[in-house]
Amino acid sequence: MALRFTPALIEEIKAQTDIVALVSEHVALRRAGKNFVGLCPFHPEKTPSFTVSPDKQMFHCFGCQAGGDAITFIMRLTGSDFPTAVEELARRAGVDVSRYVASPAEQRRMQRRQRLLDVQREAAAFFAQVLRSAYGRQARAYLHRRGIDPDTMETFQLGYAPSPELFRRFLSRRGIEDELALEAGLLIPGRAGRPPFPRFRDRLMFPIWDRGGRVVGFGGRLLADGVRAPKYLNSPETPLFSKRRVLYGAHLAAQAAKDAGAVIVVEGYMDCISLHRHGVKNAVASLGTAFTEEQARELARLAERAVVAFDADAAGEAATLRSLDLLAAAGLRVAVLQLPPGLDPDDFVRRHGPGPFAQLVRTALPLTEYKLNKVFAGAALDTVEGRALAVERAAAVIAGLESAVEREGYVRLIAERSGATPEAVRAELARVQARSSKNGASRHTRAEIRHNNKGFPGTKHEHTPHGPRAGGDLLSYAEQVILRHVLADAGRTDDLAALDVPGAWSGEAVAGAVALLRQRPPGVPAAQWLDGLPDGAPAALLRAVWADRSIPDVPWEDARRELGRQRGRRALAMLEERLQAAENASDLTAALRMTARLLVEYKRLRSLPGER
Ligand SMILES: [Zn+2]
Repeated sequence: MALRFTPALIEEIKAQTDIVALVSEHVALRRAGKNFVGLCPFHPEKTPSFTVSPDKQMFHCFGCQAGGDAITFIMRLTGSDFPTAVEELARRAGVDVSRYVASPAEQRRMQRRQRLLDVQREAAAFFAQVLRSAYGRQARAYLHRRGIDPDTMETFQLGYAPSPELFRRFLSRRGIEDELALEAGLLIPGRAGRPPFPRFRDRLMFPIWDRGGRVVGFGGRLLADGVRAPKYLNSPETPLFSKRRVLYGAHLAAQAAKDAGAVIVVEGYMDCISLHRHGVKNAVASLGTAFTEEQARELARLAERAVVAFDADAAGEAATLRSLDLLAAAGLRVAVLQLPPGLDPDDFVRRHGPGPFAQLVRTALPLTEYKLNKVFAGAALDTVEGRALAVERAAAVIAGLESAVEREGYVRLIAERSGATPEAVRAELARVQARSSKNGASRHTRAEIRHNNKGFPGTKHEHTPHGPRAGGDLLSYAEQVILRHVLADAGRTDDLAALDVPGAWSGEAVAGAVALLRQRPPGVPAAQWLDGLPDGAPAALLRAVWADRSIPDVPWEDARRELGRQRGRRALAMLEERLQAAENASDLTAALRMTARLLVEYKRLRSLPGER
C-alpha cells in the first residue's frame, strides 16, 4: 500500500492513539503525579526514569534521553522505519487510510523513486564486488596502504568502478535502461549522437547514503596518476541526491553521536572512514568546508555539540568560520578541534591512535574562543592602534552571543589578552552593537528576543496560570542556569540558600522551585526526585529546566554574578518607581528617603563586576 504521509494522516493517527495505552503494552507503568513512569525499554535500569506524559502524548527517558511521540516509540522499539511505524499505528488505531492512498501520478513518482533507489543499491553492490575481484587489486592495495581493513571496507560498502565495458555489461545484465541510469547519474549523456557513457571509471567508489542508510549517490576517487580528470567526482543532483544535504556517514554515526552527545565533523571520505576504523564512531564528513543550512540541521539532529576537525589551513579561512556560524545558528554548540599543522584527521589517528585523538576532541576550543584566538594571533598588541583594532575585532566576535553571562566572561578574557581594561572592552562592545543595530535590530537584541520567546520546550503545552510563563514573567537566564546546577549537584544546595532572598526571584514559580530544592533529601538522583514531586508550577518548572538541553554549561560563579546584577538592576528600577511616586505625591520625606536608598543601591551595583 502506497501511502502519502501527509501531516493530516499523521495527526489523525496520533489523535487516535493514546500513548499511555500504547507504551503500557510493552512497559509496566505506574502513575506519578500527572505522568506515568516505568523502566526504560531502551536502556538497562533498576529505578524508573522513563516518563510518559498523557497531556503531551510524549515519552521521555531521563536516563538515556530517548524521547518522542507514539511514532518514535514504535520506531525505536521495533527498529522499523517511519512509514512502517505509521502503518502499524494506523492499523492499531483503526484509522481508515484509504483517503491517504497516493494518486496514480504520485504512485508513479514513488515507484520511480524506488526504482532509482534500487539502481543505486545494485550499482553499489556491483562496485563492491568488483573491488573484491581481480579488477580491484590496485584499489585494494591503495586501501591497504591507507590502513583500511576488509571489515571497514564492508561497513562503508567501498567499491571500485571498472572499465566502461564492464559497467555497461552490468547495466544490461540487470536490465537497467540507459534512461534510468542517466537519471541516477551513473551515465553521462553522449555528445554528438554518441551513446551515453559511464560517469565513474577507474575510481575508488564511496556510496553516499540518506539518513536511513539507503544509497542515494556516489563519490569516486581517481586512482590512476597523470589522468586529466578531477581527483574526486560526485554524483550529479538527482531526485535522490543533493550535495547540499550530504552528511557522509550520518546513519553509521547516529547512535555513537547520540551516546557521546557530540558529532565529529571532518572534511573528506577517508578522514571519516579512518576515524571509524579506529573506533571514533561518531564521525561524519561534510565533503567540503562550507556548510549549508541543510547540513547544519542534519548535524543538529545527530547531537547537541559539533566538533569540527578540519585541517588547519581550511579551518582558518574566513569562509569556513562564517559557515561555522551556520552551525551555531542551528542551535549546535560548536567547537574547533586543532590538529598539528600538516596533519589531517586520518594522518593523526593513524599515527597517534584513538586515545590522543579523543584528547584533542576534549580540548577542542569553543567557536568563540577559537575566533578570538585568530584575532589575537594576528594582532600587533605592542602598538596602541594594534590593540584598538584587536579589541574592536574581538568585540565584533562576541557581540552576537546570546548569553549575557557568556559575553561578560569573554569581555574579561579580551581585556586580559589585549591589556585593555574591561570597561574599555565593554564600551567597544556597546559601540559595535549600536553600529549593527543601525541596520535593523542588532543580532544581540534579536537573539535575546528569540531566547525570551522560546520559553521551555517541556512546558509549552501547559496553560496553568502559575506556570513558568505566568504573568509573562519568564525565568531569567541566570536563574535557569542556577536551578540546573543545583538539580545536577545537590552539593550546591547551601550556595542556593545564600541566594534565596525573599522577593528576589523573578516569580512565584521560581521561588517555589527554590524552596523545593532546599528541602530535597540528600542522595536522591535528580530524575527520581523530580518524578516524585507534587504537581504544581514549581515542580513543572524544575522538570522543564532539567529537560531543557539548550541551557548551556555556564559556570556557577558566572551565573551567580549575573543574577546579582539582574537583582541590583531590578531593585534600582523599583526604587526609581517609588521615588517617582513620592515626588508625584509631593511627599518630600519619602522622596528623600528613596533618594538615599537609591544612592546606596547604585553604589552596590557599581561595585559588582561587569556593571558601570
Ligand atoms: Zn532510557
